[in-house]
Amino acid sequence: MSDAAPENTSDTDTEVRLRSALDQVPAYVPGKPAAAPEGVTAYKVSSNENPYPPLPSVLEVVRDAAASINRYPDMAVTELTQALSDSLGVPAEHVATGTGSVGVLGQVIAATCDPGDEVVYAWRSFEAYPIVTALAGAQSVQVGLDDHARHRLDAMRAAISDRTKVVIVCTPNNPTGPMVRHDELERFLDDVPGRVLVVIDEAYLEFVDDPEAPRSLELYRDRPNVMVLRTFSKAYGLAGLRIGYAVAHPPVASALRKTATPFGVNSIAQAAAVASLKAFDELKERVDALVAERTRVVAALRGQGWFIPDTQANFVWFGLGERSGDFAAAAQQAGLTLRQYGTDGVRATIGETEANDVLIEVAGAWLTEHPVDPA
Ligand SMILES: *Cc1c(COP(=O)(O)O)cnc(C)c1O
Repeated sequence: MSDAAPENTSDTDTEVRLRSALDQVPAYVPGKPAAAPEGVTAYKVSSNENPYPPLPSVLEVVRDAAASINRYPDMAVTELTQALSDSLGVPAEHVATGTGSVGVLGQVIAATCDPGDEVVYAWRSFEAYPIVTALAGAQSVQVGLDDHARHRLDAMRAAISDRTKVVIVCTPNNPTGPMVRHDELERFLDDVPGRVLVVIDEAYLEFVDDPEAPRSLELYRDRPNVMVLRTFSKAYGLAGLRIGYAVAHPPVASALRKTATPFGVNSIAQAAAVASLKAFDELKERVDALVAERTRVVAALRGQGWFIPDTQANFVWFGLGERSGDFAAAAQQAGLTLRQYGTDGVRATIGETEANDVLIEVAGAWLTEHPVDPA
């Protein structure tokens, strides 16, 4: 450095200049780890994880794949892309992968949104939506759910403006549980301008057993502006490996490859996902058991007098408003770590049978002690 004072005053600026858009980015609040009073069994039912440990066949593949972690992964994710193409019956060029479906969603927003553009989605819904939107400097347009915690697709259609680049439909909706029906989604898609990309987020697809559920691959097939977003994190039990994918038409799918983190999907995740697709029948037994538990839990809670929205996912929603914190604290005392959403409500993941039993017990006791309309 010379002794001369810098001409440019900016050179005396000592603070790193960060994008102002970051001020608008809410922090992701992860589900809390399990914690319980002394002598009480702790259950983490705060992150919609699969309570079953990995399948032995998948673990074996993971161990084998670990032997070559000195190498970069296959950047094109060839084997998994082909396996998905085969199992879904879509061309391989329509498949794009990412580091969890949250990663793919970030790729979607990076590929579509300039600062000031708008992303329309229901609210409450998945809390990653406002984060990925704000990161791009784009604007969230949140459309309130109806009284049954369902998407209001008409209102979402009405919220689309000239600046709208993306609409996200979360079905089943996290954290409330209801799905949108095939017929209403089809009518909605027929009405959305072709310039707007519609993301159908089906993170909980495998838990859906309602015959009126969206047949999303059918809806995407003839609509270049529709894409399907899926994950290996929930039913497949690979949340810790971070792998998800999109099914989209080639212009969108190739844009998602461009905006992906290079080598983001690691080799262990790729191998585990391929093995999990092969082992789906075995995994499906677990999913069926969780769905049976969901049915049991919802019936028990409703029997106690709770209003529980119809859920097609692996969780139930308590729309407790101001009393959310109270309820979450009572559950914590009994060993259950639930997910509280401010003063909107509380979400409980369907977990081990014992955890579900505790939930039913806590919810029943709480209602007896707080005999006000729980909805
Ligand atoms: C859990 C979840 C995801 C999946 O996240 P990953 O990044 O794949 O782990 C996506 N969308 C919704 C609505 C979710 O609840």
